[in-house]
Amino acid sequence: MTDYLSGLMADVQAKDPAQPEFHQAVQEVAESIELVLERHPEYRAARIVERIIEPERVIMFRVPWVDDQGEPRINRGFRIEMNSAIGPYKGGLRFHPSVNLGILKFLAFEQVFKNALTTLPMGGGKGGSDFDPKGKSDNEVMRFCQSFMTELFRHIGSNTDIPAGDIGVGGREIGYLFGQYKRIANEFTGVLTGKGLNWGGSLIRSEATGYGAVYFAADMLGTRNETLEGKTCLVSGSGNVAQFTSQKLLELGARVLTLSDSNGYIYDEAGIDEGKLRFIMDLKNKRRGRLEEYTDPYPDAVYAPVEKNRDHDPLWDHPADCAFPSATQNEINGTDARNLLNNGVYVISEGANMPTVPEGVEAFVEAGILYGPGKAANAGGVAVSGLEMAQNSMRYGWIREEVDHRLQLIMKNIHDTCLAAAERFGAPGNYVHGANIAGFLKVADAMLDQGMV
Ligand code: NAP
Repeated sequence: MTDYLSGLMADVQAKDPAQPEFHQAVQEVAESIELVLERHPEYRAARIVERIIEPERVIMFRVPWVDDQGEPRINRGFRIEMNSAIGPYKGGLRFHPSVNLGILKFLAFEQVFKNALTTLPMGGGKGGSDFDPKGKSDNEVMRFCQSFMTELFRHIGSNTDIPAGDIGVGGREIGYLFGQYKRIANEFTGVLTGKGLNWGGSLIRSEATGYGAVYFAADMLGTRNETLEGKTCLVSGSGNVAQFTSQKLLELGARVLTLSDSNGYIYDEAGIDEGKLRFIMDLKNKRRGRLEEYTDPYPDAVYAPVEKNRDHDPLWDHPADCAFPSATQNEINGTDARNLLNNGVYVISEGANMPTVPEGVEAFVEAGILYGPGKAANAGGVAVSGLEMAQNSMRYGWIREEVDHRLQLIMKNIHDTCLAAAERFGAPGNYVHGANIAGFLKVADAMLDQGMV
């Protein structure tokens, strides 16, 4: 890296030493844009990088609520409004005990570039809470969501900041959040995306991130005149993204061998077919159970619980063609990355955000496999959120085929844009550099146009 960028990284680390995920996300972009800054001195002169890494606004707040036993509980709420150069802040809310300022800043930072890639007018943001919905009753989740929105509502709006779901925030939570927003603000407006279909939601929004990650993999394979038909796939997670990734893979004739949750993973050599996937969707979305129950109806599958102090994840150590990490950040470490490569995996499309550590990213890029980083490969979710906003503005809803068609076009466009940017800046075939450069250029130019704000 140039002295300028190394100095910048040192500043980022010194300023917020307890935010390693944020440093990791900034470092990756910094490595990608070296040549861009050399060819465009105007960005450096206007301190674009210094500004793009500093959130426009950070909101932190107390979320008090009462549990079913009548005990008061206190959580911490956040909203990071990262960048609004190309549109209102847009990005999900995450409810998970691991949530902290650094993790949300990394997610908000990634979101800025991802949203720029979709071609839709959306800035970047992210938010959430260290609240854990797991094991809570519906009433507890509702009371938490109402308290969370009672503060958040004053900071968001359909032309200001439009949150959506992420880990721990699905249809149930969006419903409770929307209900409270509507009650306080006294208006029915598209202030959240991922809404229910009969109250302003878009068809294909639930499916969009997973479907989009599969379309992106298909587009990458297309560059080698291959398709997903007959390919064996490792998928991690068993939430929204993992479920719809699996559904689309099955539709396109691929075989899904694995799924996981935070307690362990299943390996089903015969393949997780449509019937088995329906069982998982019911287990996870309705009964809110654990994945180990899979082997009750399907005893031929193997369930392996997470082992403490393990140095690698055995899910990534099976022979396969493709991998779709769809759980959480840094779930693929250096050993996992080498295991994937040694097992013949040559297509990786990241449904999760930043699921691979830098050592792993380097190994994938060096091996020359088809590697689609999260900010490009999982942009389908926010893209259809953008389409939900468009439909809300029109007070009209498109049919399923229309939204799916637009999603496919957007994913193809992102794919081609990444390849073109990578080629233009001396890294042909490198989707990581391509995504970072294309996203950066769009936002940086908008920031230049808008002056020192
Ligand atoms: P979700 O429905 O809550 O599912 C998350 C899944 O990942 C669950 O199976 C969960 O297991 C597992 N998981 C979460 N944290 C984990 C951890 N620390 N260790 C191991 N497993 C963990 O969330 P999602 O919407 O599918 O999101 C998954 C990933 O996709 C995240 O990285 C998210 O940022 C990214 N993403 C989501 C969207 C979207 O539209 N939803 C869009 C773009 C990117 P448990 O059930 O045991 O917790």
